[in-house]
Amino acid sequence: MMRDTSAWKHLVDKLVKEKALHSDKVIHAMKQVPRALFLPERSIEYASVDAPLPIGKGQTVSAPHMVAIMNEVLKLDVGQHVLEVGAGCGWHAATIGEIVAPKGMSRSEHGHVYTVEIVAELAQLARENIMRHGFGDRVTVIHGDGSLGYVDHSPYDRIVVTAAAPEVPPPLVKQLKIGGLLVIPVGNVHLFQSLICLSKDSDGNMTRKNLGGVAFVPLTGHFGHRI
Ligand code: SAM
Repeated sequence: MMRDTSAWKHLVDKLVKEKALHSDKVIHAMKQVPRALFLPERSIEYASVDAPLPIGKGQTVSAPHMVAIMNEVLKLDVGQHVLEVGAGCGWHAATIGEIVAPKGMSRSEHGHVYTVEIVAELAQLARENIMRHGFGDRVTVIHGDGSLGYVDHSPYDRIVVTAAAPEVPPPLVKQLKIGGLLVIPVGNVHLFQSLICLSKDSDGNMTRKNLGGVAFVPLTGHFGHRI
């Protein structure tokens, strides 16, 4: 299947016009990491449509505008250590990796992305995609329950959850650095969800901001929905 790079560029330009994308780093990463590279064959022709797409096992990769908005809200920067919960096909993690550890930078200045996926087959898909497209030194895929976070490399500068939780999982708050940001959809299964951004101040207190309605697949696992 041909990868339609002009259609992807057109979509990125549209997201800039709509102000879903506005910072140079996030725009650059979106251009550098087309979604088509991470999709299963049957979804590739829709890669530049601004909608979620199936990736197998009943799961989806998020719509480009949602990845754009989340990456902007996270205020990502070079050198940050980021935890993603919900690796899916690995695309969102790769866009973050492109920002926190740009190619050509020395490893000592590199940030890193740890992305946790609860479905074994998808963790394997994400790992293969990450390796195949040259992100293996910037993104690590872990098979496990990300509602518990990933304590091994905590605390994190940024945490992003790509599935909707019933409430903010306490381990994620604990594993966030002072000054860090946590972005997470919170709400019911498929309905009445809000994108929430939490920040941790120097006393460890959390400030919570509601960024509006969203629709994500449910977070499962210990602090997820019982489905
Ligand atoms: N970020 C992904 C990408 O770029 O393809 C898309 C994520 S998809 C919208 C949500 C993912 O969260 C699904 O792959 C699902 O299996 C995963 N998930 C749900 N609950 C989880 C949990 N407790 N821990 C880790 N992953 C989880």
